[in-house]
Amino acid sequence: MAENPFFEPSTLPYGLPPFALIREEHYLPAFERGMADQLREVREIADNPEPATFGNTIEALERSGRILKRTVTVFSSVSASDTTDGIREIETQVSPRLTQHADSIRLNRALYARIKQVATDDPEEAWLLQKYRVDFVRAGADLSEDDQEHLRALNEELTRLATTFSQNLLTASTASALVVEDVKLLDGLAESTIKAIEKDGRYVLPLFNYTNQPALAELTDRETRRRLYELSVGRAPENFELAARMAALRAERAALLGFPDHAAYSVADQTAKTTDAVEEMLGKLVGPAVANARREAEALSEQAGFPLEPWDWSFYAERVRKARYDFDAADLRPYFELDRVLRDGVFHAAGELYGITFADRDDLAGYHPDVRVFEVSDADGSPLGLFVFDPYARPTKRGGAWMNNLVTQSHLFGELPVVMNNLNITKPSEGPTLLTFEEVNTAFHEFGHALHGLFSDVRFPRVSGTDVPRDFVEYPSQVNEMWATWPSILANFARHHETGEPVPAELLEKMRAAEKFNQGFATVEYLAAALLDWAWHRLAAGEIVEDAEAFENAALERAGIAYDLVRTRYRTNYFAHIFVSGVGGYSAGYYSYIWSEVLDAESVDWFEENGGLTRGNGDHFRSTLLSVGGSRDVMDAFRDFRGRDPRIEPLLKRRGLLT
Ligand SMILES: [Zn+2]
Repeated sequence: MAENPFFEPSTLPYGLPPFALIREEHYLPAFERGMADQLREVREIADNPEPATFGNTIEALERSGRILKRTVTVFSSVSASDTTDGIREIETQVSPRLTQHADSIRLNRALYARIKQVATDDPEEAWLLQKYRVDFVRAGADLSEDDQEHLRALNEELTRLATTFSQNLLTASTASALVVEDVKLLDGLAESTIKAIEKDGRYVLPLFNYTNQPALAELTDRETRRRLYELSVGRAPENFELAARMAALRAERAALLGFPDHAAYSVADQTAKTTDAVEEMLGKLVGPAVANARREAEALSEQAGFPLEPWDWSFYAERVRKARYDFDAADLRPYFELDRVLRDGVFHAAGELYGITFADRDDLAGYHPDVRVFEVSDADGSPLGLFVFDPYARPTKRGGAWMNNLVTQSHLFGELPVVMNNLNITKPSEGPTLLTFEEVNTAFHEFGHALHGLFSDVRFPRVSGTDVPRDFVEYPSQVNEMWATWPSILANFARHHETGEPVPAELLEKMRAAEKFNQGFATVEYLAAALLDWAWHRLAAGEIVEDAEAFENAALERAGIAYDLVRTRYRTNYFAHIFVSGVGGYSAGYYSYIWSEVLDAESVDWFEENGGLTRGNGDHFRSTLLSVGGSRDVMDAFRDFRGRDPRIEPLLKRRGLLT
């Protein structure tokens, strides 16, 4: 056994990381050695006296950095799902060094000169070669020595500011929590919630990382709602200044790289390609979405009997839902038991569509006892990969739900994929885990990403599975949500956890009807965030924002999305998607969700037009789209699947925005 489990490839099935052997003290030495090894490998590639070929340059780069890759993969997975103070400390130390490491490869002039000399006739190689060239140019490979120095400094400062931004947010989630002494003020919250937030005779309600706190739907005391809302929108005020500084640095970096602004730089290698395309798309949605929200507001005011404030919206939306649709989401929960949702819902749908099967591998362990491992086999019985499932929330896990790779599929290394899904479901102290419908939908969504990883059938790791443009990656996962409410699938998993009775049809009908309500709110809240992100990244170099809050208000006003009652889902001070990662993240990319939804709505229509849940349809989606990952132009793959270019109408129809 090696002294550090990262130094040798895993010997476990499918290369699953040996979590049982990994300890905190292994990470730093593994990062050190991983970076040093890769730099040495890169130097050998750059200094090779032979003429540059695809094999001795591009393929050699794909083969480099194996220890670093293993370390980063496990570290980022564990730091997101089961972090400790020690891991946070390592993260602070390592992240600027990883930025420097990436720069020292992509700004290596001898290496870049060789990449430019490589030629190949093989289409898969040619695609990858082109990707490498674009990656290098976008990282600054074409710049002069002086400009490269400047670029390195910008990247380092961005990484540093992002870490501070993110630490401020972490502090604010408790520092800005709502503190209440008199329990009467919490009237409306569930008993279990009140019990869970009691600390030394006081009640402390922590903030979720978005504007509209879930408790606003339940708190009956209007003044408490107002306080909670004000705390939410006002948290971490020092982040306004950091954000303005980051936006300025990004604009400067874009100018250095030859782009008018960071948004133009950011979308150039996305499927959107131009800022005009994004603005045209968002522009079509703003007017109808705001009109929709205003109609909803009328119904809410009528219910309330007085003019609403933003902190009243969710509370009265729930009341209208009950009055108008006679629907209470809590009635559904007994029918959504976690294990049943997973096996008889998520897995079952994938079995019907693709013929794949799942087997428990209780002999394989994750980083936490609640993590479960399944072996996935293809229709003909051949092995496909592992699926690792971590469903529960815990104080050491970040919020939200996501998919990540533990092993990336590639023919180059002969490796099959190991993919994982993280959810944030509250683990009950006893008895079955019952989900909300939203959580059921999230389970299907994340498994859509997992399928994209599991079906990957490509030669090179750089373009495997979900390694596709950011404004495309949500598309396959959004499509998979359609099976959550597909009648035969729903009938298979939605059974009462005690009686085994199927969910009553009328309850589902009410749910479907009630779901359409509040779409105006959801769309405006989302679009405002997308347009705010956009405004920060359309700034030209040298355009300095002195007052970030005033800039935010003016930007939303100018975009036509400013509406008193529905604020942006994230204000600048807590817009983690775009400011917690210095160099990239989702900056100038929050539009991606609705951009992907155009393809999603088109594809749902395609399935419905072609007979829905059938093996034939599944196999078509898999072979044209899921299996190719990023190994070709993804929009060509979409056209192969759909038979034509995407149209926006199915999305407008779905969101109730057709005028
Ligand atoms: Zn997703």
